[in-house]
Amino acid sequence: MVGAGPGDPRLLTIRAETLIKECDVLVYDHLANRRLHDWASTDCLLIDVGKRPGRHTVEQSEIGKILVEKASEGFKVVRLKGGDPFVFGRCAEEMLALDEAEIPYEVVPGVTAALACAAYAGIPLSHREYGSSICFLTGHEDVAKESLRVDFAKFSEVGGTLCIYMGMSKLEEIVEKLLSGGLDQDRPAAIVSQGTLPCQSKIVAPIGKLVELARAENLGAPAIIFVGNSIGLARSSSWFEQKPLFGCRIALTRNRGQQSKMRNTLERLGAEVLDLPLIEIQPSEDRKLIAEVFAGIATYEWVVFTSANGARFFMEFFFRAYNDIRSFGPMRIACVGDSTAEVFKKYQLDVELIAKDSTAEGLAKELVATDSLDSANVLVVTGNRNRDILVGLLETLGRAIVDTLPVYQTDFADILEAPDIEKFKKVGADAIIFTSSSTALSYVEQSEDIVFEKDAKYPVFCSFGPQTSKTLLENEMEVTVEATHPSIDGLIEALLNYFKDSHET
Ligand code: SAH
Repeated sequence: MVGAGPGDPRLLTIRAETLIKECDVLVYDHLANRRLHDWASTDCLLIDVGKRPGRHTVEQSEIGKILVEKASEGFKVVRLKGGDPFVFGRCAEEMLALDEAEIPYEVVPGVTAALACAAYAGIPLSHREYGSSICFLTGHEDVAKESLRVDFAKFSEVGGTLCIYMGMSKLEEIVEKLLSGGLDQDRPAAIVSQGTLPCQSKIVAPIGKLVELARAENLGAPAIIFVGNSIGLARSSSWFEQKPLFGCRIALTRNRGQQSKMRNTLERLGAEVLDLPLIEIQPSEDRKLIAEVFAGIATYEWVVFTSANGARFFMEFFFRAYNDIRSFGPMRIACVGDSTAEVFKKYQLDVELIAKDSTAEGLAKELVATDSLDSANVLVVTGNRNRDILVGLLETLGRAIVDTLPVYQTDFADILEAPDIEKFKKVGADAIIFTSSSTALSYVEQSEDIVFEKDAKYPVFCSFGPQTSKTLLENEMEVTVEATHPSIDGLIEALLNYFKDSHET
C-alpha cells in the first residue's frame, strides 16, 4: 500500500520509488500521477481501478479481490494511492481483504494533499499566534453519498486550521454550515486546486466570499479547502507559482525516450509538459553497409555528424564492432551543433569542428574552410531523411571523397497514439516544440487528425534551429520562437524570453 503523494512525482518517497520499480503488478487510480507508471518495469502489469466523480470503474470490494488474487499468484503487487494511503484513502478496507487472505503487506506513507497544497501554494497551516491545531476533514466520504459526514457547524468552534478534502461538490453547503456555527464571515480561507501540479490554481479570500470567487475562477476538484487565521498569512504568489514557466503548457514532439532532458528542464521551470511524440527512430537495418564502413574506419580523415541521433547510433554500432575506443582511429570529428557534439563528450573524444551556423550549408562551408578536404576520405553519418546537400557541397566545394552512412531511420509516429493527445485536443497548449524537420513534417501530415475542442488554446510553434524553422515556414506554419542556438539551453532561453514578453504584454 504505497502513498503516491499529491501529484508532483518528485514528492514520492524513496521507499515508494523502490517498490514501484520492483513490482510485478501496479494497481492505481486517477489520483496517482500517470508519470509514476513510467518507473515500473516494462513487463509490469498495470491495472486501473480508478474512480471518477459520479462514475465507479471498479467497486471497492473488487479492488481488494484484485490485490488478493494477484498476490496469491505470487506477484509483487503495489497498490498506489494518491497522497497518503491512510488519509481518506479507503486503505483500511483493502487491508482487511489482505488480512483475511493472510497476505503480508507494508504501508508506505505519502505526502498528503493538504500538506502538499499548503506548501506549494505558500499557505502556512499553523502559526504561534493564529493557529495551534490542524484538522483534516472530508466533505463526503463517497461521491455516491449525498449528505455531509462531518458536522461542520461544530468545527466552526474548534478554531485552528481546517483542511477539507473532497469538499468541492458541497462547497456551498460546507461554508453555510461553518457560518451558521458561528464562524466569522471574515475568517481567512483558501482553495487550492490541482495542487503541486503545473496547472495548480488557488484562491485566497475571507470565507464569506469563497463560494462566489471559486465559481468565478471555475475552480474544480481535486481541491483542498482551507479555513483558519493562519491562512491570512498566505502569499499571493508562492515559490512554486513564481517559477518562470508556471502555468505554461508545452507539447514535446520528439520520439519517446529522448524527451527526458528537455522535459525535466521545462518541469523544473514550472511548465506542464505534454508528451506528443511525432516520430519514431530505429537503428538502421543495413548491417552489411555498416559492417563494411567500420571495417575501413581507419581510412577516413573526417567523420561528419548531422544529428545527435546519428552520433548516438554511430557509437552504438562502433562498440558492437569494436570493444576498445582506441579502434576509433585518428579521424577528426565534425558536428552540426552542440547537442550532437555532446554525445562524444562521454567518450572523451574531441570534436574538432562544431558548426556555428547549424545548417547543412553552414557545416559544409566551415569544413571547406579548414582546407583539409581536397582528396580526403570523408564519412557523413546521417539518418534516412537527411538531404544530400551536405554531401554535394563537400564534393564540389571541398573536392572530398565522400561516403554516407545512414545509421538510423526516422518514421512518423501516429499522433493519435500519443500519450497526451486527448488532453492536447481538449485544452491545447501554449507552445509546441519541433526539434527537427521530421517532427514538423509529421505534424503537417497529421494535422487534420487533430481536432481541437472549442476552448482549446492553439499553440505557437517553436523550432530548435534554422533548418526546422525553414521546414515549418515552407509548410505555412509561422515560427514564433526559435532557439537562440540549437541546443536545449538555447531553446529554453528563447522560450523564457517569449513567455516573459507575452506575460508582460
Ligand atoms: N489519500 C489522499 C486523499 C484522497 S481523497 C491524500 O492523502 O491526499 C481525494 C481528495 O484529496 C480530493 O477530493 C482532494 O480533496 C484531495 N486531493 C488529492 N490530490 C489533490 C491535489 N493534487 N490538489 C488538491 N487536492 C487534492
